[in-house]
Amino acid sequence: MTLGEFEDMMDSCVRCSKCKYIPQLVIQSKRFSSICPSIDYYNFHAYSGGGRMITASAYHKGRVEFTPEMLDVIYRCTNCGGCEVSCKWVYEMEPNEAIHELRIAAVEAGAGPMPKHKKYIEFVDRKKNPYGEDPQKRPAWLTDDVETDESSSTLYFVGCTASYRREEIALATAKILNAAGEEFRLLGSDEMCCGSPVYRVGDQKRALQIMKENIEQFKEAGIKRIITSCSGCYNMLKVEYPRFVEHDIEVIHTSQLIEGFLKDEKIKLTEDVPMKLTYHDPCHLGRMAEPYEEWEGEKIEVLSQVYIYDPPKPERRGAGGVYDAPRNVLKQIPGVELVEMERIREYAYCCGAGGGCKSAYPDFALWASNERLDEAEATGASTLVSTCPFCGTNFLDGLESRDSTMEYFDLTELVLRSIGGGK
Ligand code: SF4
Ligand code: SF4
Repeated sequence: MTLGEFEDMMDSCVRCSKCKYIPQLVIQSKRFSSICPSIDYYNFHAYSGGGRMITASAYHKGRVEFTPEMLDVIYRCTNCGGCEVSCKWVYEMEPNEAIHELRIAAVEAGAGPMPKHKKYIEFVDRKKNPYGEDPQKRPAWLTDDVETDESSSTLYFVGCTASYRREEIALATAKILNAAGEEFRLLGSDEMCCGSPVYRVGDQKRALQIMKENIEQFKEAGIKRIITSCSGCYNMLKVEYPRFVEHDIEVIHTSQLIEGFLKDEKIKLTEDVPMKLTYHDPCHLGRMAEPYEEWEGEKIEVLSQVYIYDPPKPERRGAGGVYDAPRNVLKQIPGVELVEMERIREYAYCCGAGGGCKSAYPDFALWASNERLDEAEATGASTLVSTCPFCGTNFLDGLESRDSTMEYFDLTELVLRSIGGGK
């Protein structure tokens, strides 16, 4: 797509501000009724999905240039997709898609992304990870007791965050795979970033190159199935890659894999994990993980700026994300009591880390993490669980900043504990 292809949509935005809240029918309280961390933090219409569409439209029509102030508006957004799900309850707008195209335009014009993004993109270029870590140290989390099979066509794609920042998730995942008797291989120091941090800030050219290199590497290694720990990797490999690079590799997230292990009785959850916990839906495993469907048809203007699509366009409202697998696993862990937050599934509030915000706007990312932690604590749970190492990092930073008694775990850590392999 190009920004121009969103022109009618951008012109049709009625500035109703529904993209700032979860839909009325699912609101349970005023406190937890919003959906957009950006407008919540910056409190000015330009920082909402609809506001950014006005900016995108103004740029497309040649009315504004990319100024430093405008770039701030464009990049202080976590790409969480919440605005889009809310808007689609009433209209057919795709503000998150338009924001992405605006970022691509900013990069193509030589204005974007932000300096912090440029720095990590340079790291991805040189070291194949956005943290600037030594590629040789990527598999440093791997312990001698983990068995891998280098001839396996199943790849555990560890991802940069689990490899370098949340090693406990990588190790728990590998041990669960071993316990289930599931053969898998790793790419070790040859594993490369999936491209998500590059793609999300609009560096489309580089992101496409990374996608191609990864797919080439997977094909050369004979990979038929990929397991991911990270919601960002999952989203890229499962949802975004097929839009740009052809591949027929099956992609599954660890939560889905573990749900399958339990169904097939490959692992048994025997140990008590006494915890009242609540589950955070990562945006990129949830609403953003709903696959795109091809649509061909006619767009008909029935009234000024009101269009219908014949045949109807697939809606992509976020309901098709991965929501049940992690919950089904949690509910089977003995001793676990799962209590839900007010905003869940496609209406979940973002952790605040995505879209390049954790690196370029750490104050905003930390604030958003605390917003979500407020909601988690309001359930009465003592533990927050999720299924994304990047969300996990932001929540752990949030917990440290508020001196909270709440604990954070990845789903895999609790599963490992319950099969008798963890503390
Ligand atoms: S993007 Fe949608 S929800 Fe937001 S102001 Fe425009 S029409 Fe309303
Ligand atoms: S993608 Fe998320 S942060 Fe960005 S405008 Fe939409 S709701 Fe707000």
